[in-house]
Amino acid sequence: MKKRVYSGIRATGRLHLGNYMGAVKGMLELQDKYDCVFSVVDLHTITVPYEPDTLGVSIRNIVLDYLAAGLDPKKCLLEIQSRVPQHTELAYLLSTIYPVSRLEDLPTYKDKKAQYPKYVNMGLLYYPVLMAADVLLYKGELVPVGIDQKPHLEVMREIARKFNSMFGDTFPEPVRFKTPGEYVPSLSGTGKMSKSIEGSFINLTDDLATIQKRLASAPTDSGEVGGDIPESGGVANLFSLLRLFAGKEVYSKFMQDYKDKKIRYSELKEVLANAIFKELKPFAEKRKEFEANTKLVDEVIESSNNACRQLAEETMREVREKMGL
Ligand code: ADP
Repeated sequence: MKKRVYSGIRATGRLHLGNYMGAVKGMLELQDKYDCVFSVVDLHTITVPYEPDTLGVSIRNIVLDYLAAGLDPKKCLLEIQSRVPQHTELAYLLSTIYPVSRLEDLPTYKDKKAQYPKYVNMGLLYYPVLMAADVLLYKGELVPVGIDQKPHLEVMREIARKFNSMFGDTFPEPVRFKTPGEYVPSLSGTGKMSKSIEGSFINLTDDLATIQKRLASAPTDSGEVGGDIPESGGVANLFSLLRLFAGKEVYSKFMQDYKDKKIRYSELKEVLANAIFKELKPFAEKRKEFEANTKLVDEVIESSNNACRQLAEETMREVREKMGL
């Protein structure tokens, strides 16, 4: 039997370079080799403030972005998490074997609490348990996600181990599938690129002018610093992006310019904008085709989710029986 793969993206906005490099590139590689389910994790989306009226459009946008990026419904299943109710059933069952204190200590929970102090809900605390259920529901072994998800993978593995020891061998211990772009930094100079942080991202559908505009606002220094490239901050982030998109030679040239105190950030940003746009151009074109083909997209969603519910139910039958329910 082929290995199972699972990964998901929240419907909190359009896909950006971070999602693409850290998650989607891994998905593209794995869909050719394994049985994959790639999801729009809408139940995770609603743990932070959101608009119910536009959520449906946001979910559809992620599906369109997935298809435009090259996820092929002939090779993988495209799931919408809330249409497979077994996710929440399994999450509840798994929550009964996992301590609350471990969840309260997770950095991702603490970050979200700080970001939305008036919206600290049970779902937020529950997030890693639901994520464990997402992957274990399909007995996923490989999870293509960015490095920010590392703590959640650890929880997932602990839950799988605990379940197996209490109720008998049932789940694999999933591992993260890493890509070279597992951490794409924010354009703002601090933290990672994220959909929910304005000024941090470049979207996959951005045209060259928009990419140039976004990069223009990215902070730098005076260009007179010299020495080694700093480890963090705006300049470090621009160099990380340069290495990911423009390649080694271009990176080395600008690194030398930096050392020699003759770097011109306008030139670096111009080269970077062109390199990023080169990678994104086919994406925007393909997306337009899928936007126009509503029937095909509807069919993909319908048939994929039917297949997902069947797979999920197989696992749930086994889990309910083993837990004595
Ligand atoms: P966001 O934080 O932008 O809302 P999600 O939480 O929906 O993104 O994450 C979707 C996927 O994209 C996850 O696999 C996550 O690890 C990955 N990802 C998100 N941001 C980045 C980033 N800046 N660099 C690399 N991978 C990222």
